[in-house]
Amino acid sequence: MGRRAGAKWALISPFDQPAGPDPAGPDPAGRQLVGFELVRVSVPLRRPWATASGSFSERDSLLVRAVVSLRDTNGDRQVMEGWGECGALPGPTYSSEYTAAATEVSERYLVPWLLRARVTRAAEVWPALSGARGHHMAKAAFEAALLDVELRASGQSMADYFSARSAGTQPARAAVTAGVAVGLANDTHELLDEVGEYVGYGYKRVKLKISPERDAQAVSAVRKAWPDLVLFADANGSYQTLSPTEATERLSALDDFGLACLEQPLGADDLRGHAQLVRRLRTPICLDETLTSYNAVVTALDTRACSVVNIKAGRLGGYLAAVRVHDLCASRQVPVWCGGMVETGIARAANVALAALPGFCLPGDLSATGRFFETDLTSPLPLRHDGTIAVPRGPGIGVVVDQEAVRLHCTWRYWWPAR
Ligand code: MG
Repeated sequence: MGRRAGAKWALISPFDQPAGPDPAGPDPAGRQLVGFELVRVSVPLRRPWATASGSFSERDSLLVRAVVSLRDTNGDRQVMEGWGECGALPGPTYSSEYTAAATEVSERYLVPWLLRARVTRAAEVWPALSGARGHHMAKAAFEAALLDVELRASGQSMADYFSARSAGTQPARAAVTAGVAVGLANDTHELLDEVGEYVGYGYKRVKLKISPERDAQAVSAVRKAWPDLVLFADANGSYQTLSPTEATERLSALDDFGLACLEQPLGADDLRGHAQLVRRLRTPICLDETLTSYNAVVTALDTRACSVVNIKAGRLGGYLAAVRVHDLCASRQVPVWCGGMVETGIARAANVALAALPGFCLPGDLSATGRFFETDLTSPLPLRHDGTIAVPRGPGIGVVVDQEAVRLHCTWRYWWPAR
């Protein structure tokens, strides 16, 4: 389907979309896969991270380092590396994926299949892994690592790459509005202290984790203290434990606080329940855990189960899918924002680049270096005085991976050479 004359966005029908990323096409650089390294790190958090479904105080993460040999523009062969970060949490508290399982499936299946297919580019990852069901975050980490190599080799930033790949006609933004997600606090006092700390740093958007036990009172207290703050609430599906009537009653109480959106109140598979909430609440309903693929987003929008979309690249299977979802939502004028997974600077830099696309009209979970960790794994992504983060413009993810910090926090690593 062609672009409408004069339209800002192409009208995209789901039936026009290919089943997966575009084929990689010819390879003038003569790329050869050198190998993959899996690196497990455990990075202490500044304060424990608590949601309705669990908490942790160290970020146990799986990183992927992809190494590729290629010819540069002078025809000289050189070896380059790229990094990806798996969004899976330490336990199966967000989705069924968790770090140890991502490591296991990578070791047993994903790495051997990628080596066998001799992949060298991001667009080749999904086709090579089509035999493996699920594990989107693990697959996305390989795609991100190879994309980082590709773009470092071509000298292109991720933001420019995403912009060129998108159907939109506006360029990537130079900066994105930062946002901070605040975990469940022990009491309102503690919550106000923590939110006050971030507002003091300059954050203009805060997302509060809520649960049926800690909702209206907490949101009310924050709203009263900061009437102009852009406020989101994220239930991580926790109202699925209530009856539909009880859930609607409790969540309706949040309508008085001017939330920009209420995220994932019900279970991931409850499209009907979310559609009912869309009809009954004034607060816009956003989906997160439900949206596990491009097709899942299409279904959610078609059934009016949400009016706002959280785009989280790992959950969707990678940044290439995330750009497609961005374009889909833009074509339907659905507001989107970029979700986070308590990630280090490796994934954060890529997320900031993604959120530079013009369809990201709400501020996402994009906080500066230092929000989660005393010691991050990359060069800093600082918060600027106007509450924004500059979009990295260097090649690839645009930040430098701190090899010493990776070594310091590494708990396990293993290298698989291509043969
Ligand atoms: Mg969420």
